[in-house]
Amino acid sequence: MIRLRAVVLDLDGTLFDHRGASRAAVADWLRSLGREPDEATQSAWSQIEERHHADWRAGLVSHDEHRRRRLRDFLPLVDSPVGDDAVLDEQFQRDYLTRYRRHWRAFDDVEAALAAIGAAGLRVGLLTNGMPEQQNAKLEVLGLAGRVGPVVTAGELGLAKPRPEAFRAICDRLGVDPAATLHVGDDHPVDVVGARAAGMFAVHLDRHDEGPHDEALRMRSLTELPRFLGAQVSGRS
Ligand SMILES: [Mg+2]
Repeated sequence: MIRLRAVVLDLDGTLFDHRGASRAAVADWLRSLGREPDEATQSAWSQIEERHHADWRAGLVSHDEHRRRRLRDFLPLVDSPVGDDAVLDEQFQRDYLTRYRRHWRAFDDVEAALAAIGAAGLRVGLLTNGMPEQQNAKLEVLGLAGRVGPVVTAGELGLAKPRPEAFRAICDRLGVDPAATLHVGDDHPVDVVGARAAGMFAVHLDRHDEGPHDEALRMRSLTELPRFLGAQVSGRS
């Protein structure tokens, strides 16, 4: 058995309320188009985002192109014209990102979780499937910059979770063995299955109770984190 030495946290959906900020941004955007925000359009935006972001994570498209594809799929749904690449790039910034940034906030349970990690004497790091500029800007706005240890982004690595190299990169930056490291994230296939495949201990943060419900190591809030921090984890032989 190996004693836990570090905790690696995901950012979007784990520390940062991406879903809340994204929904608020889309609602503001729809109102600017004279439309009342509705669940079908919100849900379409998030499904389109997930589909194209998955392609970016898999290295199939560039980050800029994944954003253009999101708009090409979404704009016809709100009866808006689809322009060329330059128009789409400008529009993504103006119509979505500007509004998204206005709604950036941390979840209420983050401060207690960081305090618990510190009290347990564990190191902390952050591993996120995003671009360094935007993710570091979020940490600044959330008041978390410099407080979550080393930050590793998929954008700087050129590869994303669930690739094992991403998990190994943050463990290397922390100077800890993956087997002595707990990964906490909200995306089960990416954060939990991926981290375990890289030899880490992983707990699923299932804030919206979306499952999988047969996952043995799950929590609904970061307030439950302390019960995992004293874990004696079994290393791979
Ligand atoms: Mg996440």
